[in-house]
Amino acid sequence: MFIKVEEIGPDGLELDEPLPAAEISDGLGDGAVFRPIGDGRASIRAELVGRDVLVRGTVSAKMGAECSRCLSALTERFEVPFTVLFAKRAPEAGAKTEKEGTQGGEDQEGENLFFEGPVVELDGVVRDNLLLSLPMAPTCTPDCRGLCPSCGKNLNGGPCGCPSKRVESPLAAALRAKVSSTAPTVLKGVERGTPKTKKVARPPR
Ligand SMILES: [Zn+2]
Ligand SMILES: [Zn+2]
Repeated sequence: MFIKVEEIGPDGLELDEPLPAAEISDGLGDGAVFRPIGDGRASIRAELVGRDVLVRGTVSAKMGAECSRCLSALTERFEVPFTVLFAKRAPEAGAKTEKEGTQGGEDQEGENLFFEGPVVELDGVVRDNLLLSLPMAPTCTPDCRGLCPSCGKNLNGGPCGCPSKRVESPLAAALRAKVSSTAPTVLKGVERGTPKTKKVARPPR
């Protein structure tokens, strides 16, 4: 995703484009907690602020992961709003060709990015905003009970036979049993340590 600066009119410029799953996977790298489920999407609005370009937008994606407590599969949809100011770098500050001239550098505050040349490249910013919003230890439900440390049973399905100090009312146990018996497994076949997602073959342009 990129913006041609000359196309930003007085009312700004709006773009709405997919964020390919392969690109999200590349950013996640090996051993990531999450993986993309299909393409994400980026919707942005760019405005000129003097010579700079202000970009406001939202990146959204459906992601899958393993619950960090009970290891069951979960899917979550993320919608991450972001705002970035791309400051125009003076041409003499770094003479690059027009094609390479879109690579931004971060300033010291990490908020503003630079661009030079006729194009503002957004891929990195869009993807980073999504990736930085992903929790390190996602859970299937906020109160997931996890696995029994002794026998490994998923305690969301009811208590195991292990001696426990936790006292539970019969009603709560019944409710939990009911919930778990009706809750479908969201995804199967995803193992921990799955090799890096293969790139999706795309037809040549
Ligand atoms: Zn869980
Ligand atoms: Zn147990």
